[in-house]
Amino acid sequence: MSDPRPRAIASLPELRAAIAALRRAGKRIGFVPTMGALHEGHLSLVRASKAECAATAVSIYVNPRQFGPNEDFSKYPRTLEADLELLAGCGADLVFTPQDADVYPPGFASWVEVGAVAEPLEGQFRPGHFRGVATVVLKLFNLVQPDAAYFGRKDYQQAAVIRRMVADLHVPVEIRVCPTVREPDGLAMSSRNRYLSPSARQRALVLWKSLERAGEMVAEGERDAEKILREMRRIILAAEDARIDYVAIVDPDTLQPVETVQKSALAILAVKIENTRLIDNRMLGESGE
Ligand code: AMP
Repeated sequence: MSDPRPRAIASLPELRAAIAALRRAGKRIGFVPTMGALHEGHLSLVRASKAECAATAVSIYVNPRQFGPNEDFSKYPRTLEADLELLAGCGADLVFTPQDADVYPPGFASWVEVGAVAEPLEGQFRPGHFRGVATVVLKLFNLVQPDAAYFGRKDYQQAAVIRRMVADLHVPVEIRVCPTVREPDGLAMSSRNRYLSPSARQRALVLWKSLERAGEMVAEGERDAEKILREMRRIILAAEDARIDYVAIVDPDTLQPVETVQKSALAILAVKIENTRLIDNRMLGESGE
């Protein structure tokens, strides 16, 4: 049996009243920002919040300002009814589903621009993406006023950007980053996986296979990043129609490329399969998964 459906709140005054009531009751508020089309990855964040917080708020908002002009904003899956059912099943208390006009009031002109950590990788291939993400996440933090907020390691660079923003701007929110939830065969769960045809879904496994192979090579003693990267590219490009945006081995803190895998490094990639852009990553070395 599911819990009753959580309250879906679209209006800002209603949200403010609901948050004020939770605060008056002295409840610690956990927050999970999402774009909806929910899956187990999102639900794992809700469960992590519930384990630490008396109240859990989830936002569902497909933020137009983090999509580039040729990206999938208009076709991004929107499945609100199913999302609310799933959230009821894991006991979320409040679901915030704001409207564009409320998030971006007339005359809107203020942005959050995070520096170095937002520049490589996704920053190169999706110009303006992290500016949109950082801006909307700060807005959501200001509206929901959570004590803690939960993000997935699957979007590794995004979590790094949010951490940087929170530290730099003294935002009073604890940031938690939770493990990537995968399908049984290793594919990282993603709302975008539903774009894949059955055969592309199979080919998409090359992302995880290449990351696993990188982990194995490091465990076997390989330290030369370029050798590992060559092998990763070979595995990925064996899939018909796979196109690599980037495959990189980077310092887990700075996200700058490393030549040699020392104690730990992060393998991270973005690959298009059948025009669907997928991202994934894996720690290598001592802190490997
Ligand atoms: P999205 O709806 O794609 O914006 O994702 C919302 C949050 O869920 C982000 O913090 C993501 O990192 C996280 N997330 C997405 N997929 C996964 C996954 N497979 N495992 C863990 N967290 C995830």
